[in-house]
Amino acid sequence: MAVDTKRFGELLQKERQKVVEAIEYLHAENPSSLKDETGDSSVDNHLADTATVTLDREIDDTLEENSEHVLKAIDAALAKIEAGTFGACETCGKPIAEERLAAIPYATHCIDCKRLEERG
Ligand SMILES: [Zn+2]
Repeated sequence: MAVDTKRFGELLQKERQKVVEAIEYLHAENPSSLKDETGDSSVDNHLADTATVTLDREIDDTLEENSEHVLKAIDAALAKIEAGTFGACETCGKPIAEERLAAIPYATHCIDCKRLEERG
């Protein structure tokens, strides 16, 4: 009952491409152009939108951080395909459900372990 690593390998390559592009876009973005970027919508509104701009900036930073994290996870998953260990949960060693891998091809844990982890 081996996982279809060819299919997931392709998925991961596509996902990787997207993430790399996102990171490049974020890196290319000049922080000083922030005001231009937000456009007119924030100008004619009140204080709340100042907060929104700040929040957007924070989301950007998070996204960048997150993208690099995802990129690492994707590379790790691709390495696992090479090694033949792809699709096994890193905690319990059981196979990760294929529908979970279809949604997150770089998932490292089965849903049970992930839930336990999230619960603390
Ligand atoms: Zn597990």
